[in-house]
Amino acid sequence: MAVATAPSISLVAAAGGGSLLFRQLFDADTGTFTYLLADVPSRQGVLIDSVYEQHARDLSLIRELGIELVASIDTHAHADHVTGSWLMHDATGCAIALSAAARADNVTLPLNHGDRVTFGGRSVEIRSTPGHTNGCITVVLDDHSMAFTGDALLVRGCGRCDFQQGNAHTLWNSIKEQIFTLPESCLLYPGHDYNGRSVSSVVEEKAFNARLGGDATERDFVGHLENMKLPHPHKIAEALPGNMRSGKPRETSPKATWAPLARSYAGLPELTPTWVVAHQSDLTLLDVRSAEEFNGPDGRVAGSLLIPLPDLEAQASSIPTDRPVVVVCHSGSRSALATQQLLKAGRWQVANLRGGLSRWAAEGYPLEGVKA
Ligand code: FE
Repeated sequence: MAVATAPSISLVAAAGGGSLLFRQLFDADTGTFTYLLADVPSRQGVLIDSVYEQHARDLSLIRELGIELVASIDTHAHADHVTGSWLMHDATGCAIALSAAARADNVTLPLNHGDRVTFGGRSVEIRSTPGHTNGCITVVLDDHSMAFTGDALLVRGCGRCDFQQGNAHTLWNSIKEQIFTLPESCLLYPGHDYNGRSVSSVVEEKAFNARLGGDATERDFVGHLENMKLPHPHKIAEALPGNMRSGKPRETSPKATWAPLARSYAGLPELTPTWVVAHQSDLTLLDVRSAEEFNGPDGRVAGSLLIPLPDLEAQASSIPTDRPVVVVCHSGSRSALATQQLLKAGRWQVANLRGGLSRWAAEGYPLEGVKA
């Protein structure tokens, strides 16, 4: 039987494809990009502009890749979404990094122009780029190949300047002096995009940015921004106070759930064999392998209920409803699909057995009917 292994250095190296691992994540609800950067040899990393509602996704990715998070950095106090920084700090112990000028609570690493945040053998440089807010920073990778511009510079656009101490003249200077002075090939990763664009470069924005590229003058830029008349972001009333607490929930909500569920990056609730064994008498263990496998030499967990995956929809009503369900198969793959089906059908106390019976056996838990 294959044994499920913990993330290894080789997994991170292969996933990174070099000395730097880079991931761009997206929150469709607010059009926000979150970025994960990690130094492959040391596995240390930083997260930029996390979203509160996407915390479970981001944490799963960091855990699956075996990354030790050094800091969760925000490019500014956002008005359209709440940061996931505090939740990430609570889960991993990472620093909460934000511009000192934002004066938010719970920040453990206040950032100023010229600071560096080091992760393993790599680092990012902090450049102060106010104008959208007075605390905006641009996060520049050590070799100047990538910069994370937050809302100071967007792809073919820029952040608005009509609230949060915004100032269009200041933003013009920030972009010209701190972003457009980077190498022309430097890739620019924005804080948001609402039109499916994910990355740009200094040379492109200098030429084509609709507000300040080409021949645009400061007067053109300021005139454009001061006449945009945008509605306030719909989440501002909740987002700004939330971000002034670095995303710390008002009251730490009791982690009221029926089990210590871990969520995979694929989004599925999972439980470990150790927890399942300890609570087996309070659960239904649903085995979704074929009858041949269930009765075959690999064995089965004593007392488990067999419903092969192809029959699950038709026979779902025979699963007891008075107790949670943990779904099992050989490796955890078919049971993942079954878990999804049951969740979709409205059962909420459902989880997948991580690593399946293969991991269960490898960890030494008993199976009946095993034939050598
Ligand atoms: Fe913003």
